[in-house]
This record gives sequence, C-alpha cells and structure tokens, in this order.
Amino acid sequence: MSFDQLQASLDQRRSDALYRQRALLQSPQQPEAVIDGQSYLAFSSNDYLGLANHPELIRAFQQAANEYGVGGGSSHLVSGHSVHHHALEEELAAFTGRKRALLFSNGYMANIGVINALLDKQDAVLHDRLNHASLLDAGLLCGARFQRYLHNDIGSLKQRLSRCETARRTLVVTDGVFSMDGDVADLPAICETAKAAKAWVMVDDAHGFGTLGPTGGGCAEHFGLDTDHLPVLMGTLGKAFGTYGAFVAGDEALIETLIQHARSYIYTTSMPPAVAAATRVSLQLVIKEQWRREHLALLIDLFRKGCQQLGLELMDSPTPIQPILIGDSEKALQASAALKAKGIWLTAIRPPTVPQGGARLRVTLTAAHTEAQVTQLLEALSEVAV
Ligand code: PMP
Repeated sequence: MSFDQLQASLDQRRSDALYRQRALLQSPQQPEAVIDGQSYLAFSSNDYLGLANHPELIRAFQQAANEYGVGGGSSHLVSGHSVHHHALEEELAAFTGRKRALLFSNGYMANIGVINALLDKQDAVLHDRLNHASLLDAGLLCGARFQRYLHNDIGSLKQRLSRCETARRTLVVTDGVFSMDGDVADLPAICETAKAAKAWVMVDDAHGFGTLGPTGGGCAEHFGLDTDHLPVLMGTLGKAFGTYGAFVAGDEALIETLIQHARSYIYTTSMPPAVAAATRVSLQLVIKEQWRREHLALLIDLFRKGCQQLGLELMDSPTPIQPILIGDSEKALQASAALKAKGIWLTAIRPPTVPQGGARLRVTLTAAHTEAQVTQLLEALSEVAV
C-alpha cells in the first residue's frame, strides 16, 4: 500500500495555507533567538516570566542530575517517585492552598488522565468551546456525554447543565486563560453555576499559573477560589515556570483517585527528577520575584496601547497572550514572513488550532522582554500589512 492518499491530503493542506512546519531553534527561546541560522527578536515563547534560562534553575537542574541521573527511570508507582518529585508536590499543594498535588509528565497527559479517571459513559462533560485540544480529546475519550457551551457564556453553560440531570457526575471544564485568545474565564460565575447544579469544575490553568494572582497562584488565586468552588485545579510547569510537566491539585480523595485510576499517570515514566528540582527553585522565584509580573503588566499595557494607535485588532486579553486577529490563513502566513524579514519571530496560528477564519499572529510577551523590544515589535508591525 502506498502513501499517495496521505500525500494528496498533505498537498491540499499546503495549498490551503494550513501546512505546519517546524523551525530549528539554536539558542535560548527568547527574547533574542537564533532560528534556522538567523537572529530574531522572538515573541512566540510561553516562558512568560523569563525563567527558562535562569541560572538558579540551571544550577538546581545540574545538581539534581548529578545526584539522580538524567532519567526518571520508571513510573511514580514503581520506583520513579524521587525526593524532588515528592517535595515539589508538597510545595505545589501549599502554594495553591490545596490539600494535595500530583505531578504529571506534562499538561496533555494530565488532562487526559484526570478526565478519564473521573468520568465514564454514565457521566457528562461540559466544555467551553475554545478549550485546549487536550481537554477536548480527554472529554471525547472518556465516553461521557460530551457538550460544548459558547465561549465564556454562563447562559449557554446553564442551558447545557440543565440537560445533565440524569448523569451520575457532571464535570464542567474550562481553560483558566484561553491559550489562543488570552482572555480569562469567568470563573466566579462558572464555579457558582456548576455548584448550584451539583457539578464539579476543572480548570486548566496552563497559562494563568505563575502569571495571574498576587503571588502567581493563577486564576484560583486571582479570583480567590478554594476547593469547594474549584475542586479540580490543573496547572502546567512548561510555561511561566520555565521547566516542564504539570500537576493537579485538590482534596485527598481526588488525588488518591488519580493515583489509582489515571492511566497517563500510572503507565508512564516520571518526569526527570532534575526537572522537579529545577521547578522547586522556579516556584520560589515565581512567589518572590513579583517584579516579573509587574514588568509583564507594563509591557502588556505598552503593547496594547501601541496596537490601538496602529488600528490593529486585538482581543480582550489582560494576559501576556496578545493575539492580533487576521482572519485569513494565507494573510497570517504572509504577515509572519514579512515580520521575519524584519528580524521579528512571530508565529501565525491557523485552523484547526483556532476556529475557521480566525488565523492570527499570537504575540506572547515575557518578563525577559524590554520596553525597547516591545517598541521594536510595534515599529515592525506598523511597517507590515496585517
Ligand atoms: N492546556 C493548555 C491550555 C495548553 O495551552 C497546553 C499547552 N499548549 C496544555 C494544556 C498542554 O500542556 P503541556 O505542554 O505541558 O503538555
């Protein structure tokens, strides 16, 4: 059997301006990056607090690698649960104000594991329609009745909830900060509505954790939501925390259920202990170095005001994710290429990552950027047709 059919669909994808391509990073990811042999000022990394290359994290990583080796060696339940994993779990539980936290190898696996451990075909799962792909995949995989409500729309959520009365369990799932739009979920209303309907809420705070809240505790801290209102809190460590991995925090029974039943926890190698060790240092910096969030807020303001002056269409985002909506995929690719020619690395995001007609340049600002660099981005944007 040949792959002609596959090639035909790849060719179609290319002619639809939807073809995805990797570029070769040959340096730290930002603010200045060497990509495919060229130097760029980069605005596409999720290293929001600029911690990925922090010398203290690197030192902790190296030291733990010396002590524990490079790999995790086995799953947590066999012999892969090191002192660093354990301590990080306890520190994350204390930081999030939850009884316990459990590490997963990454956010995709956390979402798949949690939703499948909690729900099966007797249950119902309700998603914001802009939820991350990993949440949607998990919802489909678990076999529960699957519904999507309109983006951040409480009326739509209520209406869908009213159809779940016969379900054994109902789980409302939402991104905390929406990954491609940068807006924040209306969590107080979502949690209140779910509680009234005796449903659980799960928040994926991949993009809020570290960036939102006075100490970086994410959207739970930002809105002051405890386990009673927000029982399933998930965060990732590969973005603002600058390392890799994810965790779920909540009550004892939740975490023990995940240890017993979350297949993507049980049947995989633990993250390298050195990653856990570096993340412990990162957590301290996230809490202590408030200036990173303050500087980021200043850059967000500078960028938004600049875009407004240029007449660019932004989204309603108070976060470091500041997409410039373009619409047409071909145009988004052209704008990205034109910026590249001016020394700016800014990736075009196209369907199916975003809805049809919703192609955009997804600008991410980080605490490692300077005001002068954001001004340079604005100047480049003013010279390019977007
Ligand atoms: N959830 C959201 C909202 C995300 O944006 C991402 C990563 N893009 C993930 C989960 C997956 O996390 P990880 O990269 O750790 O697998």
